[in-house]
Amino acid sequence: MVSSALVVGGGIGGLSAALAFQQKGIDTTVVERQSDVHSSVFGVGIIQPMNALRALDIIGCAQDCIAEGYAAKRWGGLYSTDGHFIKEMPGTPVPGVDLPPMNGLTRPKLHEILTRHALEAGVTIRYATTFTELKDDGDGVDVTFTDGSTGRYDLVVGADGVYSKTREYVVEGEVAPYYIGQSAYRVNIPLLPEIDSIILQASPAGMAGLVPIGKDLAYLFYNAQMEKQAPDSGMDSAEKLREYLAPFGGFMGTIRDEFITDECDIVLRPEESLIVDAPWHKGRIVLMGDAVHAITPHLGQGAAQAIEDGVVLADSLSKHDNLEDAFAEYTDRRFERCKLVVDTSLDIAEWEMGRKPGYDNVAATEHVLEVMAQPL
Ligand SMILES: Cc1cc2nc3c(=O)[nH]c(=O)nc-3n(C[C@H](O)[C@H](O)[C@H](O)COP(=O)(O)OP(=O)(O)OC[C@H]3O[C@@H](n4cnc5c(N)ncnc54)[C@H](O)[C@@H]3O)c2cc1C
Repeated sequence: MVSSALVVGGGIGGLSAALAFQQKGIDTTVVERQSDVHSSVFGVGIIQPMNALRALDIIGCAQDCIAEGYAAKRWGGLYSTDGHFIKEMPGTPVPGVDLPPMNGLTRPKLHEILTRHALEAGVTIRYATTFTELKDDGDGVDVTFTDGSTGRYDLVVGADGVYSKTREYVVEGEVAPYYIGQSAYRVNIPLLPEIDSIILQASPAGMAGLVPIGKDLAYLFYNAQMEKQAPDSGMDSAEKLREYLAPFGGFMGTIRDEFITDECDIVLRPEESLIVDAPWHKGRIVLMGDAVHAITPHLGQGAAQAIEDGVVLADSLSKHDNLEDAFAEYTDRRFERCKLVVDTSLDIAEWEMGRKPGYDNVAATEHVLEVMAQPL
């Protein structure tokens, strides 16, 4: 029986797992290398599909996310470059669950909600801390931390993102994500009445979109085909983003002209993809989230999958005395589901980059949402 756990990484996945563990009676500590809850947050807003909300509901966080965010009545709609309506995307209801098809939320708010619930449940969070060594002797894992302290845990969870250090203890050989050839622009704008769900506007050069993330806040995104930029490349993002959005008419054209100004805070993130072959564990160390499946943003499912990982891992641990059986159940329940999301997100990216002519991105999205609506 597991009674203590260390989670490496206090991101969306790590915090969800820690909360789920603590609720199952596992005394859990999180180490996060950043200095506080806010410095570990990157990006602007987050799309929470219904399956993310269902998983958050299990750990008691869905209603807070809905209260702080924007609960949409449908998934979204697809429009042409010049702004003509093409297709409705209603989303797929989860049977027996009364949750919206999509909730939009700012990332800082999601981190605050998960952190508050984790602390209230009794999780210990140690910021500005990571491990220097993990020693699994079969009965437990001895951990040495960067501040010189040590601890012993029944299991260690690597929730330390796409460049996971914990992964070296589980997976043999070099594993690295690859840059898919697109980067994501994100910029906050005021919520306008037309942004009542995910508004997608496609162009032959890339996909632009609008997502509501609060009572008066939305964000604009654009997936741009480009070489990977150095984080401090100093590029004039607003000017460049306006150039990328130049072909758009209709609503997106209006937003570009009115809101994409030189004063905007623009976030540019490379889109990286990774799926690590199973098993996702070795001995008493197990991986989750972006550490094993980095998902590009095309389906808004990356964080959703990390949250589901945490909930399923806690459930599997609570059902088995033997760790090996618990980890086997966890991987069985997670691997194919995550792979579908990784692969379909990549297909949509390829289509956006003009390499998959005729691909039906709406049908692909609906298929994934239907699979995600199935039991966890
Ligand atoms: C541009 C973009 C937009 C996205 N939009 C969406 C969206 O709308 N909806 C959605 O569901 N997903 C989205 N995603 C994906 C989502 O952000 C990730 O899948 C999700 O954050 C993964 O969570 P995680 O906890 O596994 O990893 P991370 O969020 O990367 O968290 C890892 C944490 O571990 C910490 N850490 C790293 N190394 C160590 C270490 N050695 N020791 C201690 N701590 C460490 C990091 O500081 C970080 O806090 C998007 C991704 C991108 C790039």
